[in-house]
Amino acid sequence: MHKNGFLVVISGPSGGGKGTVVRRVREMMPELALSVSATTRPPRVGEEDGREYYFLDRDAFEEMVAREEMLEYTSYCGNYYGTPKKEAQRIMASGKNMILEIEVEGAEQVKRLYPDAVSIMLIPPTIEEMRQRLVGRGTEPIETVEKRLSRAAEEIQLAGEYDYIVINQRDEIEACAKQICEIIHAEGARTGRMTAEIEAFLI
Ligand code: ADP
Ligand code: 5GP
Repeated sequence: MHKNGFLVVISGPSGGGKGTVVRRVREMMPELALSVSATTRPPRVGEEDGREYYFLDRDAFEEMVAREEMLEYTSYCGNYYGTPKKEAQRIMASGKNMILEIEVEGAEQVKRLYPDAVSIMLIPPTIEEMRQRLVGRGTEPIETVEKRLSRAAEEIQLAGEYDYIVINQRDEIEACAKQICEIIHAEGARTGRMTAEIEAFLI
């Protein structure tokens, strides 16, 4: 019998470093599966369909929503983002722990569906650092950068709803990824997640 995996939700303002840190976490914990989301935003240079996202047009996304094929979804800065149920179910059936990198509204929906999910908010050390990272990434025009920065305060205000808050200090990606791995390891050892191991001694 294999153990059931648990869900790890990572949210945080744009430019905080979620994508970068999650990539490093997955290298450190290859057994962790990433849920690939669907979105209507256009791919950035270097992004591949099915790897970073499933890139859909609005009609295709709305059809998936109408067919109830999204576990959760939201509209963020003018585009849809959502977790396809198929994707999540495939990973959950494998018994692996699953990581979802999603914004705050989606995170709330996931917590409602799976109260056992572990939620982590990843934040940059300062607003100024966040702005520099977003501008430095160079993937969005300045109006989009401003839109994303103005969402940041609302997102960080919800930090209290999360189980953990991790600060991604400047040039400390390694330490940040390590801290997230430590959280995931510790969560895996929670008594409620170890019942099968204990029961094996009792029969
Ligand atoms: P998010 O996915 O949260 O929007 P990214 O992972 O794309 O953020 O990071 C935004 C930018 O900041 C990228 O150019 C990335 O290389 C850079 N970055 C991420 N973490 C750090 C860090 N700890 N120190 C300096 N730059 C960082
Ligand atoms: P980006 O355009 O920078 O890749 O993502 C923008 C925001 O959408 C980020 O906060 C990211 O975490 C969030 N996001 C990505 N995928 C999903 C998803 O499937 N559902 C939700 N609710 N948010 C998502």
